Amino acid sequence: MSLDLPVHLSNGKTLSIQVKKSKRAKRLTLKANIFGIHIIVPMIYYEIEIMKFLNLKKDWILQTSEYYERLRNEYGEENLKLNTIAFLGKRYNLKITRDVATSVIVSDNLKCITFHVNNRRKYKDDLNKWYSTQTSKIVAERLTQIRRMNPELPSYNKVTIKHQRSSWGSCSKNGNLNFNLFLTSLPLELIDYVIIHELAHLVELNHSKEFWKIVEAIDPEFESHRKLLRDYKLLTNCVQ
Ligand SMILES: [Zn+2]
Repeated sequence: MSLDLPVHLSNGKTLSIQVKKSKRAKRLTLKANIFGIHIIVPMIYYEIEIMKFLNLKKDWILQTSEYYERLRNEYGEENLKLNTIAFLGKRYNLKITRDVATSVIVSDNLKCITFHVNNRRKYKDDLNKWYSTQTSKIVAERLTQIRRMNPELPSYNKVTIKHQRSSWGSCSKNGNLNFNLFLTSLPLELIDYVIIHELAHLVELNHSKEFWKIVEAIDPEFESHRKLLRDYKLLTNCVQ
C-alpha cells in the first residue's frame, strides 16, 4: 500500500512525497531522483512524526525539487523513461528480446538498442557486460589519443573498468586508473574530461590549484565539463 504525504513549500506549491516503508530502515531518510522525492521509513512509524520530519526538511525539499525540475526541463521528461539507456550522450530505447545467441544491436536510425539475451530476467547482466566492453574499448582508445597529444603526462600502471556507484573514475597512488562501467553513457567530451582528470591525478593526487592547472592545460573547458558531469551523474543514476 502506498502513502503520499503533502508538504507545503515556501514557494506556495504543495508537493506530495511518497512514503516507502522498509524493514531495513532504522531512521527516516529522504531520497530524490528525477521522478520525484520519496521518504524511506522504518516499518513502525507514526504519520505525525513523518510529517514533522518533512516540515523540518522543507528547504531541502524545495531546493531539490527545483533542481530536478530544471533537469527535467533541460533534458526532457520523455527522454528519461526507465526503458531507455544512454550511450555516448544519446538516449536510446531499450529493447530486450529472447534469443538463443546473445548479441547487441545499436540502431541510430531507430534510436534503439536491442539486446538479444538467453534469459530476459537476467538482461541486466548482459547490459552491464555490454557497457563494460564498450567502456574498455573507448577508454583504451581515448587514453592512447590523449597521452599521444600530451606526452608530458606520466604513464599509468593498470586500467580497470568497475561497477562503482559513486564516481566516474578514480586514480590510486600506485598509478592504477579505474573507470565506471557506465562511463560510455556520457558524451565523448565528458568521457575525455574524466580521463584527463584521472591522468592529471598521476601528477597531483589531490584537487589542489596545481591539479586544476594540469587539467586546464589539456582541457581548457574543464569547468563547464565538470558542471555538466554533475547533471549527468544524477540523470544516469536513475536510469541504470
Ligand atoms: Zn579527482
